[in-house]
Amino acid sequence: METNRESVARTENINFKSDNTKFNIIVDSVPNGLIVVDIRGEILMCNSEMEKMFGYDNGELIGQSLEILVPREVRTNHVGLRSGFFEHPSKRQMGAGRDLRGVRKDGSEIPVEIGLNPLATEQGNFVVASVVDITERKKLDLMLIKAYEEVQQKNLEMEQFVYTVSHDLKAPLVTSSSYISFLREDLQAGRYKDLMDSLERVEKANKKMHELIYDLLQLSRTSRMELRVSSINLSQLINEIKKDLRDQLAERITDLIVPENLPVVQGDPKRIAQVFENLIINGLKYAALNDHNVIEILYKETESEWQVGVKDNGPGIPAQYHKKIFALFQRLDNQKEGTGVGLTIVSRIMGLHGGHAWVESEPGQGATFWVSFPKNPTFPKENHDGIH
Ligand code: ADP
Repeated sequence: METNRESVARTENINFKSDNTKFNIIVDSVPNGLIVVDIRGEILMCNSEMEKMFGYDNGELIGQSLEILVPREVRTNHVGLRSGFFEHPSKRQMGAGRDLRGVRKDGSEIPVEIGLNPLATEQGNFVVASVVDITERKKLDLMLIKAYEEVQQKNLEMEQFVYTVSHDLKAPLVTSSSYISFLREDLQAGRYKDLMDSLERVEKANKKMHELIYDLLQLSRTSRMELRVSSINLSQLINEIKKDLRDQLAERITDLIVPENLPVVQGDPKRIAQVFENLIINGLKYAALNDHNVIEILYKETESEWQVGVKDNGPGIPAQYHKKIFALFQRLDNQKEGTGVGLTIVSRIMGLHGGHAWVESEPGQGATFWVSFPKNPTFPKENHDGIH
């Protein structure tokens, strides 16, 4: 390999890289950076990998102070460390346990790992340092840490989920069991009227259990099924839902206002329909108390996303429950039928679409349930299958 490093031989007798071509080839073929420094911190030799790593031209580092490769804020300290090394020279890793950084010619910094080797010669003491650019390793480390944290978070969620499910599934079972023992007593005592009442309660508890299990299955399918992504015209999609809910809207004297210029978003039409259907049905179920109820679809645009809202003029939701109602089985109104899974599903589906769901509401002022669609979404498992 051609070099112009005759200047390398700066110390009078020692020649780190003179005319010994084999030696030069070997030094330059090392995949790590190699650098030799004297006691004053002057760079006497370095291989091409070192120059490449730090963005210097051939021979440009020779004669420079080692400290130009060290971040400005640690330079002064580094001079002391270097002198310390010459006082107690030994083969070792530099800065064990610390994050070392090197400064490239363009001022950018790279994470490095440095091995130090003392070199004692008749001409004096030197240090041979081997330098490895660990940018890729650091990236991998970060990815591993992130993956680990995600697994931890999922474990926590799973524990919470199992606890909630077992707790809430137990409730109708407990009710059933108690009424079954009442049934036995009523039967023995010939109290047929009470017997019918107990039977009805057992039936009701069973129905509740059935609904909870059904909704849990829906929730689990939400996370497992692959998204079938296409362009969705939201005005069109919500108008379809309006048609399907015609009877319920009429029954609850509710107007559903759908603007014709809602955005076209990317997503799985079936899932997104599930989101709006859930929110509109909630509006019908919880808000329809007036003589004339209105559910209105709103939208806003930010730099990065579309936000679409389902606004009702119902009783609204106190601020302390705004987050809670999106959690599994959380309900504020036990008079109405439901399992408390709907908003959890809405939130999951929006999460899969790179967006999220939240509510804005004040008691007595109605509620607006918002969902957001990123303008540049990435999906967990993409499967584009045309225009909806
Ligand atoms: P469910 O309707 O089965 O109870 P959800 O998860 O859809 O489950 O809703 C959770 C709770 O949030 C409901 O029980 C209700 O108390 C409250 N909620 C949802 N939508 C509305 C709304 N539009 N107005 C007032 N309260 C609502």
